[in-house]
Amino acid sequence: MIAQPADQYQDIRDAVRALCAQFPDDYHRRVDEQRAYPEEFVDALTRAGWMAALIPEEYGGSGLGLAEASVIMEEINRSGGNSGACHGQMYNMNTLVRHGSEEQRRTYLPKIASGELRLQSMAVTEPTTGTDTTQLRTTAVRKGDRYVINGQKVWISRVQHSDLMILLARTTPLSEVRKKSEGLSIFLVDVKQAVKGGMTVRPIPNMVNHETNELFFDNLELPADSLIGEEGKGFKYILTGLNAERTLIAAECIGDGYWFIDRVTKYTSERTVFGRPIGQNQGVQFPIAESFIEIEAANLMRWEACRLYDARQDCGAQANMAKYLAAKASWEAANACLQFHGGFGFAAEYDVERKFRETRLYQVAPISTNLILSYVAEHVLGLPRSF
Ligand SMILES: Cc1cc2nc3c(=O)[nH]c(=O)nc-3n(C[C@H](O)[C@H](O)[C@H](O)COP(=O)(O)OP(=O)(O)OC[C@H]3O[C@@H](n4cnc5c(N)ncnc54)[C@H](O)[C@@H]3O)c2cc1C
Repeated sequence: MIAQPADQYQDIRDAVRALCAQFPDDYHRRVDEQRAYPEEFVDALTRAGWMAALIPEEYGGSGLGLAEASVIMEEINRSGGNSGACHGQMYNMNTLVRHGSEEQRRTYLPKIASGELRLQSMAVTEPTTGTDTTQLRTTAVRKGDRYVINGQKVWISRVQHSDLMILLARTTPLSEVRKKSEGLSIFLVDVKQAVKGGMTVRPIPNMVNHETNELFFDNLELPADSLIGEEGKGFKYILTGLNAERTLIAAECIGDGYWFIDRVTKYTSERTVFGRPIGQNQGVQFPIAESFIEIEAANLMRWEACRLYDARQDCGAQANMAKYLAAKASWEAANACLQFHGGFGFAAEYDVERKFRETRLYQVAPISTNLILSYVAEHVLGLPRSF
């Protein structure tokens, strides 16, 4: 492993590394081959309390910040695992902690902290409107003490491994709101009840072992107290989750990036062709060094995003920029790692092709690189709006 100076999170790093060491490469490879869910790994993380990092102590969690949560996710990916199986619980948590009612917090947080319940899913994306979130068509109509949900979602992850899901739906028609981001609301959905009452879940086979689904809502009735926060303000609330998600995924990409650098430096130091280690050639060294520099730089932006988020300051720009830089850096490290493993990079037993697929996702999800560029151009630099 590349030597790095200890930081203030070294205790967390050491503890998560020790847990991850019980789940070596062949465990994650087998889970990937079987397209299975890493149940034992997520259970171990839960039992050790890591999945409750962001839950305040008064509700049974450890009351840590996003910075610490990001270290947990980074270390999972750096160990060769894939936080994608469980990161939802981290980024969804603050949506409930910060915007949920006291009753919702008391009802759910202790059970999530103990592992009795999982909050791994967030349903935002829709098939017909994609990234244009404010145009989403799923509706929630208030009828007495219930909301009736109709519509469709796509790419909704970990639904089969979650008890609770945060759902974004329109409660006031677009034609009746001043700003298109108004009139959207978020709900805490009991997944098992929903499946009995009008939600259909259809898995989408995909390039990575990432359990994700289409969801169909046909007159699903939710109790009115499933609403999180005030009706119509859901878009603002969901941004709490989205900024946390982008920052955590930046940390995961940084973990991936270090994993690729560890593997490729070791391999190219040992693999001898033309009578010398391939890593002695500058054509091999430079792409590795370049991606390492970019990972280090992305890491600085990740800490800045964490700092602002934990101080409850606006971190939209930093969260997006951290995710952009980290996803790009890990992808470049992945390319170098695959390239310099030659043919062996394609062999499943080296794990490079698996991690290569896993890290590629983050150029597209949870927000594509183009949309980050557009956000920075228009919201940070004030250029004319393109949509
Ligand atoms: C494995 C996986 C898991 C996911 N999990 C979840 C989840 O749990 N919950 C959830 O809500 N969503 C989830 N998503 C959805 C993900 O967030 C979206 O796929 C992503 O935001 C892109 O949206 P889209 O697929 O609709 O692409 P589109 O919006 O259709 O965009 C397609 C492409 O066009 C480009 N593009 C679009 N508009 C513009 C523009 N104006 N300017 C420049 N380029 C543009 C984009 O950059 C993108 O590359 C997941 C996706 C995947 C693949």
